[in-house]
Amino acid sequence: MTSRKKLPSEKADIIEKANIQRQLADTERLATLGKLTSKVAHELNNPMDGILRYINLAMRIVEQENLEKAKEYLTQCRKGLMRMIQIVSELLEFSRSTYAPFEHIRIEQIIEDAVKTMDTRAETSNVRILSSYAAGIPEIPSGNLFQVFCNLIKNALDAMPDGGQLRVSTRLAADNTAVVEFRDTGAGFAPENAKVIFEPFFTTKDKGKGTGLGLAICKDIIERYNGRITAENAPGGGSIFTVYLPAAPTGSP
Ligand code: ADP
Repeated sequence: MTSRKKLPSEKADIIEKANIQRQLADTERLATLGKLTSKVAHELNNPMDGILRYINLAMRIVEQENLEKAKEYLTQCRKGLMRMIQIVSELLEFSRSTYAPFEHIRIEQIIEDAVKTMDTRAETSNVRILSSYAAGIPEIPSGNLFQVFCNLIKNALDAMPDGGQLRVSTRLAADNTAVVEFRDTGAGFAPENAKVIFEPFFTTKDKGKGTGLGLAICKDIIERYNGRITAENAPGGGSIFTVYLPAAPTGSP
């Protein structure tokens, strides 16, 4: 079969189409980032506002020498600051990359590294982590998948404070999509939360324990792979988080 040589105008069309597609992808990414940034800014605004107010009050009290009140206001400042530190450190944790950015790596390797990282916490929580891997899953650009898997394991441990079991398994779907499943024996989540679970700052954890950023960032990272993540309650109790990653022959998310 002979292939016809492309005319210069056809080549220009293809290049222009590719450019437009790239610009659209960039715009979408910026929109996601913008949404997340505005939510982060909003969330940081409350503690910052409080800190400023309490510092002003403390300064006034210090001037009047009522030091007990000043101590109370400084305690409030510290609380606000600790919340800001937690949000920022969680964001930093996710932006840190463990592997070389363009490295293609076995998905099992990333899972094993994440399990190892969470090992001590799992032991303390009396949780057994069992993993089983399907053969033949193509290597994948490492991106920030390590952080995604760590977060899904951390959430599963949080959902099993009295111990339990976490099963991490992989399979290859018919369309060459790598599927990674995290199935825990925890409390699961309320059905009405299914819609908001991936929203930034949605959390059911106590103050100081959760920021509600984890799953939102996981979703964002997975979408950069053109993948998706789902959450469901398991029929026998507990929850199942499933990550779908379509095979990508080249490039990095
Ligand atoms: P955070 O862990 O800071 O609360 P996430 O975005 O990681 O933030 O999780 C949001 C919420 O989703 C959690 O507060 C919890 O209610 C729910 N959730 C996440 N993982 C699980 C799980 N494995 N089992 C039950 N609920 C979960």
